[in-house]
Amino acid sequence: SEQTKLEWNKAPCRFCGTGCSVMVATRDGKVVATHGDAKSEVNRGLNCIKGYFLSKIMYGRDRLQTPMLRMTDGKYDKHGEFTPISWEKAFDTMAERWKATIKAKGPTAVGMFGSGQWTVWEGYAAVKLMKAGFGSNNIDPNARHCMASAVGGFMRTFGIDEPMGCYDDMEAADAFVLWGSNMAEMHPILWTRVTDRRLSAQHVKVAVLSTFEHRSFDLADLPIVFTPQTDLAILNFIANYIIQNGKVNKDFISKHVNFRKGTTDIGYGLRPTHPLEMKAKNVATAGDSTPIDFDEFAKFVADYDVGSVSKLSGVPEHKLIELAELYADPNRKVTSFWTMGFNQHTRGVWCNNLIYNIHLLVGKISTPGNSPFSLTGQPSACGTAREVGTFSHRLPADMVVTDPEHRKHAEHIWKIPSGIIPPKPGYHAVEQNRRLKDGDLNCYWVQVNNNMQAGPNINEEGLPGYRNPENFIVVSDAYPTVTTQAADLILPTAMWVEKEGAYGNAERRTQFWHQMVQAPGESKSDLWQLMEFSKRFTTDEVWSADVLAANPSYKGKTLFDVLFKNGQVDKFPVSDADPKYMNAENDAFGFYVQKGLFEEYATFGRGHGHDLADFDVYHQEHGLRWPVVDGKETKWRFREGSDPYVKAGKDFEFYGKPDGRAVIFALPYEPAAEEPDDEYDIWLSTGRVLEHWHSGSMTQRVPELYKAFPDAVCFMHPEDAKKRGLRRGDEIRVISRRGEIKTRVETRGRNKPPVGLVFVPWFDASQLINKVTLDATDPLSKQTDFKKCAIKIVKA
Ligand code: SF4
Repeated sequence: SEQTKLEWNKAPCRFCGTGCSVMVATRDGKVVATHGDAKSEVNRGLNCIKGYFLSKIMYGRDRLQTPMLRMTDGKYDKHGEFTPISWEKAFDTMAERWKATIKAKGPTAVGMFGSGQWTVWEGYAAVKLMKAGFGSNNIDPNARHCMASAVGGFMRTFGIDEPMGCYDDMEAADAFVLWGSNMAEMHPILWTRVTDRRLSAQHVKVAVLSTFEHRSFDLADLPIVFTPQTDLAILNFIANYIIQNGKVNKDFISKHVNFRKGTTDIGYGLRPTHPLEMKAKNVATAGDSTPIDFDEFAKFVADYDVGSVSKLSGVPEHKLIELAELYADPNRKVTSFWTMGFNQHTRGVWCNNLIYNIHLLVGKISTPGNSPFSLTGQPSACGTAREVGTFSHRLPADMVVTDPEHRKHAEHIWKIPSGIIPPKPGYHAVEQNRRLKDGDLNCYWVQVNNNMQAGPNINEEGLPGYRNPENFIVVSDAYPTVTTQAADLILPTAMWVEKEGAYGNAERRTQFWHQMVQAPGESKSDLWQLMEFSKRFTTDEVWSADVLAANPSYKGKTLFDVLFKNGQVDKFPVSDADPKYMNAENDAFGFYVQKGLFEEYATFGRGHGHDLADFDVYHQEHGLRWPVVDGKETKWRFREGSDPYVKAGKDFEFYGKPDGRAVIFALPYEPAAEEPDDEYDIWLSTGRVLEHWHSGSMTQRVPELYKAFPDAVCFMHPEDAKKRGLRRGDEIRVISRRGEIKTRVETRGRNKPPVGLVFVPWFDASQLINKVTLDATDPLSKQTDFKKCAIKIVKA
């Protein structure tokens, strides 16, 4: 019958940065099934186990369905019980606190934390509200914990963010090297493509490097377990080996590479295709690094000989040489993959720079199969968190708040008076927690995040700030989490196909979906929440008198009028939306808000190396990789004939840098921030598992996924267990200088740590391993190192 007919539509998976496309079946207003999209070039009809159960993530019995405020006797009380209230009351309460705080302490006392799980237009609207509306740069994404070092690496080496290659590299490479990436569990669909290539071409080799053995080792021809932090030295050894053995691609480096020495400059800057290029003061090569020549670089890495690096890293010499030979062999195309092992590292930016050094030395870059490839964690870590400017120092299209020309450009596109965007970067993720604790940041809104489970050192640096009586914490989420429980106000949120959305995956592919079902109860999208909240403020309440005196036409207008109903965002009528689909936000605001925001955002990148196609195109296509010029996507950037921005006759052009040359950096090995000692005698590494998405707030509500991996455990070498009188299944206390948790010993299974290291996943809210982790960050990217700290283990 008509009632039971299935309706199938495409959407990207809402979990990892692989960006698989799925077909979603709805019936009677409910998502009832999903399967892999056979038309998708990414996943070719496959999904991993999380993707297969996508249809169930929205239907947990405890979906949040109404705003809830902590109250006692009908009044807000930080120690009161969560009490259902209306949206009106929720926004009024929030606005009252925001206004009083801004009046008393200025805009730096309000802040926001988001993530790469925001849709493109949600992240963009959040940036506008915070930076252009409240005049506060205190917005940061959880990409700070995930991809900030990758961004720093790209900007420093190439002057422009995001990978030059694409997933097509997997069918062209002759060797794969995994650096701190367990693709078998974290990017399983990409791993099927690597596995397919390895098993169907006998000459293909796979090297896997990690601080412990995991599932990706099953395919490894060259398995390498190294001592934590010594990846820095191994990377320099490979560069040294290439030089010592005469395998440098001299033609490539003479034409396309500069050498520099210096450890601190991050190299933010405009790419030369940008019209503001000539005016930019903070160009990509600025900072404290200084030019060196090839010979000086060769001398610098000469210290990293096979004997000393083998001793430092614990990797046998023959394995180091075999690894270096994969890169050095001129007849082998090499793709390197990495994720959190590199990025969650106190020298994560350097790790990224050092892998680019190797690919640049041998000229194995930007051609099919030759690819240094930074994988992403979140579904829109690239498309939203990085690209729309949600970092506290960034603006859209790789621009930064510290550059006056960048601020001017953004203020021009946003049609706001000059001087609204502050020149100082806001608080980054870890700093936000510390400022909440210290009482400098008082009003704080968290969306698409579970930071009280995901953030580091939450006992000392997380919870105290949320529960600081001076602070008012708002958390938008679809389910109760550790973070909602620490909040003052909870806002119920629509998820995935309960709204229209767009994500950008790890290979620069932008994918759209339509709203297919209604959100339950009074749940509303993050976009609706942001825009509705903006109606509560007039410019007089948030902008300075000087700005308004110089720009009287803005006086008395609401932030909603200035930011969203400004003749630009609201220029597409509701009738532009496909009538076949719902669109809750259009119904609420009376214009095609997603299209308006996307088209405004796209003007930042079009003509500047980051061209996005027209909005409507993405609803037809199964994703396109930017830059999209004349309707054509780009597979490999920086190479003539593939990238439309490379000038004819240039062969390669790294146009993010003013002279078109990428940079090879001389960077040293540096010890970890904390190492095991006599008392805290063993390394702890943390991470994810295949079955659960991040903090498990969605996947743990899917019975099949919950049962597949119900509780976190401590993966441990049998000898380490024996030494402590422990057996498999024993309850233990995992203790660091910061906190402790109870869990159980696991000496078998998918992860096999070496003696001296344990691995504990962080998805389990009943065992908050981030009470134990260290909040040390990379000084350049401010990204946290979740992969190494010192702990002790005792029987519970
Ligand atoms: Fe694909 Fe990642 Fe979703 Fe799995 S979780 S289906 S690999 S996008």
